[in-house]
Amino acid sequence: SELLTISGLSAGTEDKPILHDIDLSVGAGETHVLMGPNGAGKSTLGHVIMGDPVYKVSSGTVTFDGQDVTDLAPDRRSLAGIFLSYQAPVEVPGVPLYSFLRTICQMRPELKTTARKFRQRVGQIMAELDMDESFLTRELNVGFSGGEKKKVEMLQLLLLRPKLAILDETDSGLDVDALSIVSKGIEAYRRDCDGALLMITHNTRILERLNVDRTHVMVRGHLVAEGPASMIDDIDRNGFGAYEDGLAASQ
Ligand code: ADP
Ligand code: MG
Ligand code: MG
Repeated sequence: SELLTISGLSAGTEDKPILHDIDLSVGAGETHVLMGPNGAGKSTLGHVIMGDPVYKVSSGTVTFDGQDVTDLAPDRRSLAGIFLSYQAPVEVPGVPLYSFLRTICQMRPELKTTARKFRQRVGQIMAELDMDESFLTRELNVGFSGGEKKKVEMLQLLLLRPKLAILDETDSGLDVDALSIVSKGIEAYRRDCDGALLMITHNTRILERLNVDRTHVMVRGHLVAEGPASMIDDIDRNGFGAYEDGLAASQ
């Protein structure tokens, strides 16, 4: 049975339609990849699944774990088990990373624990990710590089253990160190949490190490193709031209 089912979803900002009649399903524990040219609407879809109030749904539904979440607030979706890593994570001055992590975990009945056990768990995950513990006292994301923000997201992912993680790649690209931590984080998530993954990425190096179940291609707000992992190699070689032409011909 499906974990996430998006059906007939159209959405956009107050004055601009962005997504058109999207159908997409992700089963429990599956790994899906969403690809498409810049500006296609990939990040918007991630934000709409998470319930970002910037975007309005004009038709269609988002169902998660048997519940219609189309009108739920983002915090309720988060509690239901959806995690979105932002392409541009917010900076929160005055809040040390450790306090932030402790707070978001204490809000979840299934993750509530003693301060000592929590600190141990954070230490374990950081060791596994080769992350420097000095991060913990820094203000959340303030002045962090793109790569450092991604590392913090991996730490959040492994602490929160969501049923579905939507990982949106940074535009800037990651250095080798950050790339390695993101890969380790994703592997640990797949192994320890058995969660589903929707990867929004161009980085085929990260994808090489994943067992991808399905690939989706988005062009100008439309999902125009869906296929097996081998589609990624095809896109690597040939780009999105054929998909763009196909959509133009059908309109
Ligand atoms: P992608 O992630 O595929 O590069 P986006 O989802 O970021 O694409 O953007 C898709 C389109 O929607 C772009 O034209 C972008 O400018 C527009 N868009 C996205 N979010 C907003 C917003 N908050 N306000 C106005 N336009 C937006
Ligand atoms: Mg897009
Ligand atoms: Mg994007």
